[in-house]
Amino acid sequence: MTRANSQDRALRDRAAAVIPGGMYGHQAVGLLPDDYPQFFKRGDGAHIWDADGNRYLDLMCAYGPNLFGYAHPEIDAAYVRQLGVGDTLTGPTALMVRLAEEMTEMVGHAAWAMFCKNGTDATTMALMTARAHTRRKTIVRAKGAYHGAAPWCTPRPTGTIDADHAHQIFCDYNDVASLEEAVAKAGDDLAAIFAAPFKHDAFIDQARPDLAYARKARELADATGALLIVDDVRAGLRVARDCSWSAIGVEPDLSTWGKCIANGHPISALLGSEKARKAAASIYVTGSFWFQAAPMAAALETLRLVRTTDYLERIAGMGERLSAGLTERAAAHGLGLRCSGPGQMPLYLFDDDPDLRKGFFFVSQMLDRGAYLHPWHNMFLCAAMTDADIDGVLNAAEDAFAALKREGPGLAPVDKLAFLAGGQR
Ligand SMILES: *Cc1c(COP(=O)(O)O)cnc(C)c1O
Repeated sequence: MTRANSQDRALRDRAAAVIPGGMYGHQAVGLLPDDYPQFFKRGDGAHIWDADGNRYLDLMCAYGPNLFGYAHPEIDAAYVRQLGVGDTLTGPTALMVRLAEEMTEMVGHAAWAMFCKNGTDATTMALMTARAHTRRKTIVRAKGAYHGAAPWCTPRPTGTIDADHAHQIFCDYNDVASLEEAVAKAGDDLAAIFAAPFKHDAFIDQARPDLAYARKARELADATGALLIVDDVRAGLRVARDCSWSAIGVEPDLSTWGKCIANGHPISALLGSEKARKAAASIYVTGSFWFQAAPMAAALETLRLVRTTDYLERIAGMGERLSAGLTERAAAHGLGLRCSGPGQMPLYLFDDDPDLRKGFFFVSQMLDRGAYLHPWHNMFLCAAMTDADIDGVLNAAEDAFAALKREGPGLAPVDKLAFLAGGQR
């Protein structure tokens, strides 16, 4: 590796002293190859600069929030303007009502909106709304699907108690029989079926929603009186200008939104249909910063760009070209690369790579060539990317695949269990 990294190493040392584990959650130390930077200092359009000043085309987009580009002139101007007028006030501004009007206008199933800060707030409110609506406890959700990091859904149970996870039954995504079985097991206590808009779990190939599965979820919710929830926190606005399942004609009762709805500014939302309005009005949920006006101004500007530009068609088109180009170039070097999921939210995994050593080597090679990829989490394209950026990634991959072909047989094993445990080696 020839990239400078002294600033990053110095920050890691200081962080190790004052931040537990050096970092936590999805930013935990050890979840990415050792030569990945932990700290950044700048973002502009489709690019990020690490603490040492190295520049990368960023295919992670902040793990989703960056949809139109970092430091977007119009979105950030709207944010800054509102910051100067009033942000955290004793109550909300008119922007909150307008944002609720615009989101319910845009999302077919939605008659009302509630705003919060993180996706986890929204999914937790969805859970509470469903339990309030049905006066039942049990939820059915797919194994391995991420819905946030509150005690009821955090993927690592350390620090939680059994009661936090009670009344949850798991099924296999896209498996109708397993969904039916889980719902049957819930008996007369089913409050909700949670669904990811498509299978976007880490470490395994992504999968589009099977139409029969989505329809069955709707049908079972209707038959039992439970609510159907689509967790669109990650995919919302990246696969449709509506709830992601609108594309397959299945409307949920509740949908959860976050990540990119204000292009990186902190706001998330729970949207609901008429049926769930009364229950939503009955739960007590709030936060000191949930009514901030500046992120709402940024969200309104983001929605304007969603309505008036061809961003969606462009990121989908660039994503398809990237995935097709990578598969083809990998194959030319005799490597099997699987690109799964929508092109604009791709996950790339190599064949015959159980401990991800090929994946780790490949993404490190790409990093050296100015592209920030992820070895086991889905990536994201943003509207600030250009065709030239995609060509740049494809050219870099040509060299990286050649290096992988050359050095693959001698690669050291990756301690997958250590990084699955959050790098606590
Ligand atoms: C990120 C994510 C969440 C949680 O959102 P946070 O803002 O991180 O709390 C929930 N559901 C899905 C599908 C997500 O990708």
